[in-house]
Amino acid sequence: MLWVAIAIAGLVATAAAVALAGRRVLFLYRLATSGQPAPERIEYARRHAGAEVRAQLVEVFGQRKLLKWTPSGTAHFFVMWAFFILASVYLEAYGALVQGAVTGTPDFHIPLIGTWPVLGFLQDFIAVAALIGLIAFAVIRVKNSPKKLGRGSRFSGSHLGGAWLILFMIFNVIWTMFLFRGAAVNTGNFPYRSGAFASQAVAKILPDSEGLEATGLLLHIGVMLVFLVIVVNSKHLHIFTAPLNVLFSRRPDGLGPAQPMRSDGKVLDFEEADPETDVFGRGKIADTSWKGFLDFYTCTECGRCQSQCPAWNTGKPLSPKMLILDQRDHAFAVAPYLLAGEKEKESLSQDVLALLDKPLVGEDGVIHPDVLWSCTNCGACVEQCPVDIEHIDHILDMRRYQVMIESSFPSEAGVMLKNLENKGNPWGMSEMKRADWIEELDFEVTLVDEKMPEDVEYLFWVGCAGALEDRAKKTTKAVAELLHIAGVKFGVLGPMEACSGDPARRLGMEFLFSMLAQQNVETLNEAGVKKIVATCPHCFNTLANEYPQLGGHYEVVHHTQLLARLVEEGRLTPITPIEEKITYHDPCFLGRHNKVYAQPRDIMAKVPGVTTQEMHRCGERGFCCGAGGARMWMEERIGKRINTERVDEALTTDPDTVSTACPFCLVMLGDAINEKKNAGQAKESIEVVDVAQLLIKSVKQG
Ligand code: SF4
Ligand code: SF4
Repeated sequence: MLWVAIAIAGLVATAAAVALAGRRVLFLYRLATSGQPAPERIEYARRHAGAEVRAQLVEVFGQRKLLKWTPSGTAHFFVMWAFFILASVYLEAYGALVQGAVTGTPDFHIPLIGTWPVLGFLQDFIAVAALIGLIAFAVIRVKNSPKKLGRGSRFSGSHLGGAWLILFMIFNVIWTMFLFRGAAVNTGNFPYRSGAFASQAVAKILPDSEGLEATGLLLHIGVMLVFLVIVVNSKHLHIFTAPLNVLFSRRPDGLGPAQPMRSDGKVLDFEEADPETDVFGRGKIADTSWKGFLDFYTCTECGRCQSQCPAWNTGKPLSPKMLILDQRDHAFAVAPYLLAGEKEKESLSQDVLALLDKPLVGEDGVIHPDVLWSCTNCGACVEQCPVDIEHIDHILDMRRYQVMIESSFPSEAGVMLKNLENKGNPWGMSEMKRADWIEELDFEVTLVDEKMPEDVEYLFWVGCAGALEDRAKKTTKAVAELLHIAGVKFGVLGPMEACSGDPARRLGMEFLFSMLAQQNVETLNEAGVKKIVATCPHCFNTLANEYPQLGGHYEVVHHTQLLARLVEEGRLTPITPIEEKITYHDPCFLGRHNKVYAQPRDIMAKVPGVTTQEMHRCGERGFCCGAGGARMWMEERIGKRINTERVDEALTTDPDTVSTACPFCLVMLGDAINEKKNAGQAKESIEVVDVAQLLIKSVKQG
């Protein structure tokens, strides 16, 4: 009778919990699919099936990103694998539940492998490892408590109570498992004779009692059922949604080209688009695509993104984590409206209706404009996010609505837009000036007018800064000279080159981006350009990754990639020693966005005399200079200036030179260093140079 009663209780509780969880899952599904379609995500996953399978193995099962944070990553690794392996214990528990009711003896084992000591060992080992993981999590949470560290805590803003509840529930899963298994050892119903070391040890301190075994079994199942209901109603939903979010994110890590604007799943054609009927970016939560909703559901509130964000770290209100969480909370709050039929809408409470009037972005909106405009598109958040949430997509879509529909953006950026529109460059200089730098060289440079000459291998994409900004022009001339010395034939477009459109796109002015990009693609295609070398990582990223969206397909390299190859092949030989200590700053659009970390360092390593020292934040955790995301064209009024923060960090390495590989980084870091020099906080001799300038110095003087 005991086992029949236990089985009835267990199965009724299971049915109730599954019904509750199922209802919630259905709600989440309906909410996500009430958003904009995103067929491109399914198409992308289909076309990159191999990469997607690899991503599931590496990111989800291998926990690649989490393991970069060693203590918490290791703890999470074991807790996550406990979920998989302990599913076999639940199989045994339900087997015992049913078998006990049918035969009166709950001595169930999984067919074929169910008495294998290795399985018993694995179950106990992972449970103990998860228990240690829980202790590690608790210590990490206490040490990083927002109460102690304030903004400096990555958990600041997260729902802390919910996180502790989850830890408590996992703890309950583990101790009830050992109670049930230990009692089963004593009653002779345990499937393993050896291997399950912890269960067998627990058995020694438990009485031999069938009642205890039944209680342990029921508690173990009950805890899991309560946990299931909590999970689907909490941030721990990521247990189920993370594999999906990884599947539908862009590979390799959610970074990649800015996406074209879509309305109802189709790319917007600006000649036909109608702001009245088409979706222009995101002005309300209902404009979010289902992938955006999946991002909301998947955020674990771990705060890794926040801890890396240059805006957050310099006192600005933007936290990429809160950007996601605030939208998520709003989406849940207005869900009754989004999911209601026309008639039901009329009977909704005033609270829900009032929320509907809340703009997505605005002084009283879900997202404050200062949050939206603080982003440099540096990608540190996306790079670090263990579940591949694509914060930049959210930011860009909201900016698009603000710029194109509301005409609401920092007024300084308006000058840049006007200059781009009228002159094709952000400074508003005459296009004729684009070739002025050539006159300062002592060799001829091919100006491509209509067709690339047969013997010219590369189109050197100079970029607006490279052509018009004095400091960046030095890089341009250095690269041209190096290519000339190495015998690489190249040509330039001169006045025919227009801005790649990156600043317009990153600001949210997609229409202007599309105009500039189409013009450039036409010029490049008509000239028959196949290979491009660019010095500006923003141009490099746009030409290589975003122009294919408009029919521009080229083999694009950054100058550091080409120069490193030329040095490797012996076509450039740095021989004059440069006895300097150099620290290298990774440009975000070269490093994180395009994974070019090694080549600039390879070049410096080949220059005799150079010693290098990395900054604390380098490589994939490099800290932005503050210029990306069109921030170069906006005032930085809140908090510490990002370029000053970066230079402070550079100065801790006591460098003679700060090197980089981007004209915008060059300007931002140069400005900050000059301020430091003026304040007597940096030695007068410190210079900020491009890696190409170092190389030419060593190659030429030799
Ligand atoms: S892209 Fe960079 S600046 Fe923008 S939210 Fe992410 S980390 Fe912050
Ligand atoms: S967005 Fe990603 S990194 Fe940021 S808190 Fe959420 S899960 Fe963590």
